[in-house]
Amino acid sequence: PTSPSPEFYAEYTPAAPPAALPRPPLRLSCVVPAFNEAVNLPRFIPALAEAVAQLTPHFEIVIVNDGSTDATHTVAMELVAHSGLPLRYLALSRNFGKEAALSAGIDHTRGNAVVLIDGDFQHPLDLLPEMHDLWQRGYDMVYGVIADRGAESGAKRVGTHLFYRIMNAGNSVKMPPNAGDYRWLDRKVANALKALPERHRFMKGLYAWVGFKTAALPFVPLDRAAGASSFNLRRLGSLALLGLTSFTTLPLRVWSVIGALVALAALLYGGWITLETLLFGADLAGWPTLAASIMLFSGVQLMSIGILGEYIGRIYDEVKQRPSYLLARDEDHSSLRSNDNV
Ligand code: UDP
Ligand code: MG
Repeated sequence: PTSPSPEFYAEYTPAAPPAALPRPPLRLSCVVPAFNEAVNLPRFIPALAEAVAQLTPHFEIVIVNDGSTDATHTVAMELVAHSGLPLRYLALSRNFGKEAALSAGIDHTRGNAVVLIDGDFQHPLDLLPEMHDLWQRGYDMVYGVIADRGAESGAKRVGTHLFYRIMNAGNSVKMPPNAGDYRWLDRKVANALKALPERHRFMKGLYAWVGFKTAALPFVPLDRAAGASSFNLRRLGSLALLGLTSFTTLPLRVWSVIGALVALAALLYGGWITLETLLFGADLAGWPTLAASIMLFSGVQLMSIGILGEYIGRIYDEVKQRPSYLLARDEDHSSLRSNDNV
């Protein structure tokens, strides 16, 4: 099910791959965000280590515990102490959300390439050799594209489609639809992401914004091994709102256009009734029209103020300059050191 379809390559990947450049020997950092993954981690981390060991002996796995409320902490500490794997364990001080957990992970990686992968087995491990291959051929970022959303609800699919349409309509930086967080990043890209100062981080937008040579790799997400997805419609909605307010001003522009159109219509209508009165002396009836239009346009105004408010809220959040996450714990059993970077 994970075999790439040529159409996906054609649509998202530059036709001619970048010229092959000799990459330094791979030192890979894997970032695994974990929120209530106590059941999955004891199987997932060894499985990931085994898959990665096929590519290089020099690797580390960074587990980011995003304020889990189950036994994730105990399980991760156990893995760090007894698995003998090159692990790094970061515990955030509370649940900051997946975007922040990924940022925390990336900030602490030391390899010359970074893989971001979910800890619930949904991102197929057998994509890693292909990602590695594309990286070696010169691509700086290889991202998984969800090739089949078959298992998802209709509402989620419609919402996703709408979101990407709005996002990309008003933006010169195009976000590839259905690209997920399953990614292989060159050190350059990881450093670029680290350098972006915003606090509320919409990762999918940031990946697109930093640019670099990217390649898409279609995959069919597997079923969650255990536990439940923490992204319900409400949470997805607020993530979408974060994305929109951080990456496009299109919703603001829409209201300027609507305002201009309404003003124009009012002007024409005003002109028309003046003329009508002068020429035909028509009597000016119509309080229902008045009432209806007042209601309509106060509604329109409230909506536009609301949208304005979303943007101001975003600005308010950013100017406070609070860090996007806080670390409560950092257990380092990794063998990679920061001078390994280049
Ligand atoms: N996750 C996280 N913090 C959160 C929610 C999720 O670190 O607040 C992690 C979770 O442990 C998993 C990944 O992000 O490794 C994807 O989450 P999930 O499976 O719930 O989302 P879905 O796969 O449905 O998009
Ligand atoms: Mg999942």
